[in-house]
Amino acid sequence: MNILLYPDPVLRQKAKPLAEINKEVCKKVEEMMDLMYEARGIGLAAPQVGWSVRLFIIDAGGNSQEEKVFINPTIIEETGELNKEEGCLSFPGIMSKIIRARRIKARAYNLKGQKFEIEAEGLVARAWQHELDHLNGELFIDRMSPSSRLAVSQRLKEFERTYKGTQVPV
Ligand code: ZN
Repeated sequence: MNILLYPDPVLRQKAKPLAEINKEVCKKVEEMMDLMYEARGIGLAAPQVGWSVRLFIIDAGGNSQEEKVFINPTIIEETGELNKEEGCLSFPGIMSKIIRARRIKARAYNLKGQKFEIEAEGLVARAWQHELDHLNGELFIDRMSPSSRLAVSQRLKEFERTYKGTQVPV
């Protein structure tokens, strides 16, 4: 398992709901955790490792152990607005200010198949919105302002030029 980089086409697919939580799923989530920590990220969505299902992991420091894996997630409520720097493990080296909701209320299933709700703000809320976008094939470059997008356009072209195809079986 490795992290797919832009412009891998899997990153643009709409991920399917996860139908069953089994041992294979738990093992993949563990591998995702290792990859995320290794890359010093705070969030990673399944499509970023070539697994097109509605699941992501977040460890932004503040959330508890049980609240790191989010399966078939939905945001129920968004409030406020905040324009802050963010990055993405599929775009190493690129940071840009993105407008996101300040607070969210959200719902997901954990690895035990239990439904739960969270209320989050700050980094966790931002990561949630970023990772949920990944499940819909949306990337943070889509949400950049025209000037930010222009500022990173050379870097994006470089990613496109050096892209070597999907590195993991889909
Ligand atoms: Zn990302």
